[in-house]
Amino acid sequence: MHPLPFVTKEQIEEIVKTYPTPFHLYDEAGIRRNAENVKKAFAWNPGFIEYFAVKATPNPKILSIFNEYGFGADCASFNELALAKAVGIPGDRVMFSSNDTPFSEYTYAAHTGAVINLDDITHIDFCEKACGGKLPETMSIRFNPGGIFRMSNGIMDNPGDSKYGMTESQVFEAVRVMMKKGVKHFGIHAFLASNTITNDYYPILSRILFELAVKVNKDTGADISFVNLSGGVGVAYKPEQQGNDILEIGERVRQVYEDVLVPAGMDKVRLCTEMGRFMTGPYGGLVTKAIHEKHTYKEYIGVDACAVNLIRPAMYGAYHHITVLGKEDSTCDHTYDITGSLCENNDKFAVDRAMPRIDMGDYLFIHDAGAHGYSMGYNYNGKMRSAELLLKEDGSVELIRRAENPRDYFATFDCTEAAGPLDEVLKEQGI
Ligand SMILES: *Cc1c(COP(=O)(O)O)cnc(C)c1O
Repeated sequence: MHPLPFVTKEQIEEIVKTYPTPFHLYDEAGIRRNAENVKKAFAWNPGFIEYFAVKATPNPKILSIFNEYGFGADCASFNELALAKAVGIPGDRVMFSSNDTPFSEYTYAAHTGAVINLDDITHIDFCEKACGGKLPETMSIRFNPGGIFRMSNGIMDNPGDSKYGMTESQVFEAVRVMMKKGVKHFGIHAFLASNTITNDYYPILSRILFELAVKVNKDTGADISFVNLSGGVGVAYKPEQQGNDILEIGERVRQVYEDVLVPAGMDKVRLCTEMGRFMTGPYGGLVTKAIHEKHTYKEYIGVDACAVNLIRPAMYGAYHHITVLGKEDSTCDHTYDITGSLCENNDKFAVDRAMPRIDMGDYLFIHDAGAHGYSMGYNYNGKMRSAELLLKEDGSVELIRRAENPRDYFATFDCTEAAGPLDEVLKEQGI
């Protein structure tokens, strides 16, 4: 059974009086409950920091909630760094885990005091120049063990085919070169599997990284001050899946820490994570209204959201559970494709999905859209990004990002010629 939505039909009927569908709605209570559990799970490690992966939900309000818990931000671009800075997250709580990094972004990262997580050995000189001729004293290194990453429940991911990180020998070489260039404290990072739904992932990864940290320390004498387990802790998107238990994960990582780092005398190593999906995924839903039904070779329900609001189903064939609000207990005796309006046949939130009968005007709650939902949005077909709303703990709703309007869509054109007519067209529409 997939958990029910965190809002009722009655609440949505109130909300749409002010904010028309479609919109992303986030559950503050859920986000906070989960953040507290994350803090508790790793409290055994005094220096623990969760650097929230900004790309999952790049909204200042969401970032400032995490800031309250002492969490930081994991960024990969100028805009993400600027967002973290704007929210007031101090540089030493910002991780810059970029790849294929532009010169100016290394410069800005160094300027803000973010910790640079170096993706490749060939970036050392490039980064040094970008940082004004001197590498920062604390830097991180991204490791990629190659091959296939396996866990007890089968093949999980394919690091050998992934563009990120350095080989093991490059890690050693990079540390030596960077020490010569004045780097004093190192972190080791790897992201080996995405959206894992097993409590095994972090414990297995931490053993790999802790053992590497010990070897690097022994061979080079480098101070390894932190190990970063990155993201990859997943969300139970499908009803038959069992979600991760972060408290168990934290305890099992502690055991590996005791097993590997403590005997090596490395009991001061700080643990870091860069979770995105796990922090916000289940606590956001895309709310949309059924506006058309179509009976051809299949039964279609057309809704007022489309893939620009949530691309995961179109892009990866990802499953997102859908609840018809007010029909939570109805029998799923209809089979529908739920479609958006893009001129792309993959613009479907669900294909051949058993659902209760859907009537025009029904509100659909598309679950687990809180991470990599709004943020992967785009403007295909001239469609615009929706609003983001926060359902607060007291039940009120706060607009935390307004919906785009046509003026936003046209803002990047040089409309000198068309400005007159375009302005009239928009004014006619009351925009
Ligand atoms: C995407 C990403 C994350 C977050 O991953 P989730 O699966 O959302 O937890 C963390 N670190 C890096 C470097 C990433 O690219």
